[in-house]
Amino acid sequence: MPAPTCASCHAARAALRRPRSGQALCGTCFCAAFEAEVLHTVLAGRLLPPGAVVAVGASGGKDSTVLAHVLRELAPRLGVSLRLVAVDEGIGGYRDAALAAVQRQAARWELPLTIVAYADLFGGWTMDAVARSTAGSGRSRACCTFCGVLRRRALEEGARLVGATHIVTGHNADDMAETVLMNFLRGDTGRLARGGGLGSPGEGGALPRCRPLQFASQKEVVLYAHFRRLDYFSEECVYAPEAFRGYARDLLK
Ligand code: SF4
Repeated sequence: MPAPTCASCHAARAALRRPRSGQALCGTCFCAAFEAEVLHTVLAGRLLPPGAVVAVGASGGKDSTVLAHVLRELAPRLGVSLRLVAVDEGIGGYRDAALAAVQRQAARWELPLTIVAYADLFGGWTMDAVARSTAGSGRSRACCTFCGVLRRRALEEGARLVGATHIVTGHNADDMAETVLMNFLRGDTGRLARGGGLGSPGEGGALPRCRPLQFASQKEVVLYAHFRRLDYFSEECVYAPEAFRGYARDLLK
């Protein structure tokens, strides 16, 4: 059976059925709709005011790659300028390849890139050193908890270094659902009560943070990267199999 005609342009053949709506669209119309929805998220939430200098937390993975690409498309309409900020956690056999992907993106998109390293910021500590020091102590499963705290701090430092006024991260709707479930399973009522917004307004002197892809599903992020032919790094961090997040992800399948 031939593919149906795109429900938006009524000219091209549909290339996908949108997971969120069931609408059959061609790749071009899907990407345009995806970008329009991110624009709506940013404008309706008043996340990035005109004139903002936006630090994009860039990991080389699909989410931050899609976020940087979409914001680059939207930047003239939003009146913002972008800086890529990548964090080198010091994870052998993983982060070097991911950072190489960020460097290729920065060169292709002509965006300034700054890389900040845990080793420089935290007295020589890398994630590999943290993992070694916690191995066998029962805390090694918590690598990602340590890493999450350090990365938040490192991204803040990197953003300040480049003169950013705002920070954006590539968390998508699936990430948000996993976070809610993780906090529920841990009984962390404080985080459950704080979560759910589009970001944080910058309390305690921190820069405002937001998640423009928060309403986009993982499937649609992957589809956008596919149709825009984005080059991203897709291998998993060596510590990810131990992460509690993986447990929450499995429960949501
Ligand atoms: Fe850090 Fe865990 Fe992510 Fe690896 S999987 S980069 S250790 S948070």
